[in-house]
Amino acid sequence: MKPLVDPFGRAITYLRVSVTDRCDLRCIYCMSERMRFLPRAELLTIEELDRLCSAFVRRGVRRLRFTGGEPLVRRGFLDLLNLVKRHLNAGLDEITVTTNGVQLADFAEPLFAAGVRRVNVSIDSLDRDTFKHIARRDCLPQVLAGIDAAERAGLKIKINTVALKRDNAHEIPDLIKWAHGRGFDMTLIETMPLGEIDEDRTDQFLSLTSVREDMASYWRLTDLPDRTGGPARYVRVEETGGRLGFITPLSHNFCEACSRVRLTCTGKLYLCLGHETSVDLRETLRAEANDTRLDAILDDAMTLRPKGHDFQVERLRTPATVRHMSVTGG
Ligand code: SAM
Ligand code: SF4
Repeated sequence: MKPLVDPFGRAITYLRVSVTDRCDLRCIYCMSERMRFLPRAELLTIEELDRLCSAFVRRGVRRLRFTGGEPLVRRGFLDLLNLVKRHLNAGLDEITVTTNGVQLADFAEPLFAAGVRRVNVSIDSLDRDTFKHIARRDCLPQVLAGIDAAERAGLKIKINTVALKRDNAHEIPDLIKWAHGRGFDMTLIETMPLGEIDEDRTDQFLSLTSVREDMASYWRLTDLPDRTGGPARYVRVEETGGRLGFITPLSHNFCEACSRVRLTCTGKLYLCLGHETSVDLRETLRAEANDTRLDAILDDAMTLRPKGHDFQVERLRTPATVRHMSVTGG
């Protein structure tokens, strides 16, 4: 089957799938306390998600990352993984999951059994009160237990931390030392203007350029060539021996190599993290039993893929896009 290639010659090899908009945390930069979630009928079923993932694998996607919302709260999530697993070593190189870790203690072994070998766990503080403030739920002990269980199950772990000027900036070096001390890669993420939340984002925005400059005053940071087709840049922290990534989505510096598209839990395909342009796949999926029309829509969607995105820090106060990260999948 013909691979999916956009007008700028970039092949789509990575699909990020949000399996639910729901979550058992309410992180302040991501959701409001009183989020209105989608009616269940709007969500793609497990079978529909599998059909779409399979269509993308047939068209050249080699890496699938499941996210949300919180993927581990989606009923049937393991069934989905156990379906998609058949593509491993048959076009698909890996299946990964991004989770908040709250339920990971129960899921670690079944995830491994379903073919997952790497998980990203988001954790913004190792201090119980700070964690509770940021996540609006007192769940740090569960997350730490989840990380331990994932390690025992043989999953490779990467830690994701959103850098927040007021709440965790002072803690970032300790978080890095902790993650690297346990042998985990770590990625710092700049806040992105996605979706309405309760707070003003500008007073929590922390530039990772300044975080990096600061770090370079006490650590030796060696640039690494590793690129993952996404927005992360990596360094090695010589003192800890660990790998540290910086995700600065507001910058343009990764668009030329971007191989990623995102599928929402309602079947909308977003062609770029920072653009509103999307294509609905659910209607076709529900109307047509075979994939001929779906494949044609995927080809058409490629023609809409923008060259790059246009977030601006000045626009942080108002969301650049109205969708939440929990819908599109972070
Ligand atoms: N619930 C899972 C989790 O937290 O890892 C998966 C979904 S979450 C949307 C994926 C990642 O996006 C998390 O690392 C989260 O911290 C990050 N994220 C959410 N909203 C964000 C925002 N507005 N700006 C930057 N990162 C954000
Ligand atoms: Fe939930 Fe992840 Fe959003 Fe936090 S960042 S509210 S854990 S979806």
